[in-house]
Amino acid sequence: MSIHSDCHLHSAYSGDSETSMEEMILQGIARGLNTMCFTEHMDYDYPDSPDGPGSIFLLNTDSYLYELARLKEKYQDKIRILFGVELGLQPHLMRQNAVYAKSYEFDFIIGSSHICNGKDPYYPSFFEGRSDEEAYREYFMSILENIKKFSNFDVYGHLDYVVRYGANKDRDYSYEKYKDILDAILELLLEKGKGIEINTGGIQKGMKDFHPCMGILKRYHELGGEIITVGSDSHDAARVAASFDRATEVLKECGFRYYTVFEKRTAEYVKL
Ligand SMILES: [Zn+2]
Ligand SMILES: [Zn+2]
Repeated sequence: MSIHSDCHLHSAYSGDSETSMEEMILQGIARGLNTMCFTEHMDYDYPDSPDGPGSIFLLNTDSYLYELARLKEKYQDKIRILFGVELGLQPHLMRQNAVYAKSYEFDFIIGSSHICNGKDPYYPSFFEGRSDEEAYREYFMSILENIKKFSNFDVYGHLDYVVRYGANKDRDYSYEKYKDILDAILELLLEKGKGIEINTGGIQKGMKDFHPCMGILKRYHELGGEIITVGSDSHDAARVAASFDRATEVLKECGFRYYTVFEKRTAEYVKL
């Protein structure tokens, strides 16, 4: 495994994880990681869903930071622990998210789209009465709008997360098919000096590629993009650093020679 930093992790401070932060850290140390960045969920205006009220994705950031600081010190000789957040972006939340992002000294901020026009693609209602293509396009358009309106993030998370949940998932999906809108997203990210992440969490859900797909990774590289973080998006200890060997191969195949880690919002480039 040549990637030793997992920069997308959720512990029980996120509404959809029950794993203690310490358990995840111990697993990371056992797997040979030298850096772990926790990126707990903070989603304002997450709608109520069959699984519970949207408020479960409001992060108690003070408690989270307190525990992180304790464990950072406890394991400082074994691993570097970083303070991140996965901020749920929606166009109307621009001000609220901007205030929040400035309120803490984060090492790293992932901007992610979990909600598109009031709905989470995780639930079938997002796709009801329309084709996957229409739904995917709406999702990508909302990403573009988010990036136009909000800048205080380092990388955009799981860019094509929506394809996990379409009726045909990624069977008819490719970068080429959505090149028009995907290129607009990548070009805007580059213009703003922002990166993307390779999120290895999709593979376990039966997808052929990580998020985003190889076509997008290749294109980002081709356009001159160099900021790429690596994260398992693990919500439990078992999947910390999952599929990192494969991620190394994929990144090399897409032309990358380095991956990125953020500390104090500053990029470090690490050889693959
Ligand atoms: Zn996410
Ligand atoms: Zn996540």
